Amino acid sequence: MTSYCMPVLKCPICSGQFIIYSSVSGNTSEGMFYTDGYIKAPMFDPVDELLECPECAQYIWRAESEEIKVYSENEYRNETTDTNLVNKVSAKKYFDALQKSVWNSNEQEIYLRTRVWWTFNDLFRKDQAEGMSKQLEQYIAISLDKFRHLTANSMAIRVDDAENLVENLWFVQHTLERINSIVDIIDVATPEFMVANQERLLELLLAEYKHISIKTEGNLVSEPENLLLQIAEIYRELGRFQDCVDTLKNLTKEEYRNKANIIRKLAQSGDCQVGSF
Ligand SMILES: [Zn+2]
Repeated sequence: MTSYCMPVLKCPICSGQFIIYSSVSGNTSEGMFYTDGYIKAPMFDPVDELLECPECAQYIWRAESEEIKVYSENEYRNETTDTNLVNKVSAKKYFDALQKSVWNSNEQEIYLRTRVWWTFNDLFRKDQAEGMSKQLEQYIAISLDKFRHLTANSMAIRVDDAENLVENLWFVQHTLERINSIVDIIDVATPEFMVANQERLLELLLAEYKHISIKTEGNLVSEPENLLLQIAEIYRELGRFQDCVDTLKNLTKEEYRNKANIIRKLAQSGDCQVGSF
């Protein structure tokens, strides 16, 4: 189970106060791990660094917002406070924040560009789509039967015919949901925009890798290898397969071998789409 604390933060722009849910425990068990570094797990809820102030609606960074106090979950439940909860930054807002260049450091630019990259890749995450349809299937199984009979009665047709009709309707609805999430970002998430985002992210990660490598004087710790994995993945998604394979050659740690092999195989088969480990 994930437990939370509730810090009260102060907006660095308007000084308004807001509360943010922050997980204090969590893990990635039963998680899905993707080649672009995105993790989806029931007990994994990493803290959002970019926030939208509920008072002045400006983008602010959590690290730059002063912490006033921290409620435990219990204290928060018993407290009568009119302090607003902070809003999660939506997919479309990440694109908006990027276009407004809201970062103050390379680290923040990397954070934002990575979220934009992940958001775009969400449209192609196969496991997520399957997971969604499994959930839908359970819900549909219960409601379909009732709906089928209702439809048959109201349209004066056979139950079997109604079943086909209803299944088609669900297919249309599921497709519409997918289209809606694409429509939400379609005006900004053009292929040109995404390539430009990945190229700039690549540049930033290469600089970061060089910086860390110099700092650790060749004695590479796990973090630089994780960076290398991300760099290789961006090369692959950009279709620069040889650069991808060459980058993976620099990975030395055993713990990254499986992931490197999967990314290498995808590159060797000319696959540019996000995959899973
Ligand atoms: Zn504010």
